[in-house]
Amino acid sequence: MNALEIIKERYNNSASANDSSKPDIAFIGLGNMGAPMAENLLKAGYKLSVFDLSEAATQRLHQAGARVADSPKDATNNAQVVITMLPAGKHVHSVYLNDDGLLSGLPKGTLVIDSSTIAAADARMVADVANTYGIEFLDAPVSGGTGAAIAGNLTFIVGGSTEAYARAEPILESMGKNIFHAGNNGAGQVAKICNNMLLGILMAGTAEAINLGVKNGLDPKVLSDIMLQSSGRNWTLEVYNPYPKVMNNVPSSNGYKGGFMTKLMNKDLNLAMQTASETKVDIPMGSKAAELYDVHSVQHGDKDFSSIIARHDASIL
Ligand code: NAD
Repeated sequence: MNALEIIKERYNNSASANDSSKPDIAFIGLGNMGAPMAENLLKAGYKLSVFDLSEAATQRLHQAGARVADSPKDATNNAQVVITMLPAGKHVHSVYLNDDGLLSGLPKGTLVIDSSTIAAADARMVADVANTYGIEFLDAPVSGGTGAAIAGNLTFIVGGSTEAYARAEPILESMGKNIFHAGNNGAGQVAKICNNMLLGILMAGTAEAINLGVKNGLDPKVLSDIMLQSSGRNWTLEVYNPYPKVMNNVPSSNGYKGGFMTKLMNKDLNLAMQTASETKVDIPMGSKAAELYDVHSVQHGDKDFSSIIARHDASIL
């Protein structure tokens, strides 16, 4: 048995000896991702108190059976676990660390799981403050978009202690299919942006290659099939071809609607740039992808990120 298995067994035994019921959860941030994640927790039998600045967002969860709180603090009354799914680092900072932030008021032993995508340095800072209050903090960003959030098959990439991870795993399993323990606090965020930086590079590169072929007379489907069986094969060619009508049921065949928005890819590439600069790591390919997505997101931020192919041929959009 490895350390994680031993801790899990100890935790499960003490949970069934004392109280086999599930912990009460406070869920803050009920947007495109948070709302379906919270709904899946309700379906799995967790008792939820929820808070969001948007009333429409809280109404959806009220109808699904959650208690709607008046404030983040109110949501955390009686909660043993707090989950946040917020837009960016500044929102996470304000919910946890501001004067009326949550960390100073939570009971010792509370488990805090932040699934927002934020800079690793920000996640480590919140974790450090949490630890001084005796609170366990995990950064647990997700891979997979709104479809995966609704279907409950997100990938969670978790940074934090083995003990906190063992407590969180059954909860995360109600919202996701693959749960990874990447390492200590911040490691979840680092792994997530490494993956998304690679995805941005692959998408921009695949779009560039298909465009080169098309401009030289090739059929995009024929070229895609050739590369799919050759050494250029990659995830974008397998399941997410950026050229219209090469593949069914992908954003490129649906006007680049749905999917993973360009502005979110742009955000993640900027987080990769920030992390690389703070740690003095050279990322020339990531920097180029960030530059391309920066420009593309000015006009097409709400379109799926595969629309980057339109920088070669605007008539595609
Ligand atoms: P979103 O903008 O749809 O939702 C964020 C929610 O947080 C909103 O409902 C907003 O009202 C609420 N909020 C903001 N500040 C708040 C505060 N102080 N207190 C309470 N609520 C507050 O964002 P999203 O698409 O759900 O994404 C959430 C996070 O997940 C982001 O960090 C994003 O990068 C990441 N992510 C998104 C996707 C995706 O496909 N949408 C995929 C993977 C990861």
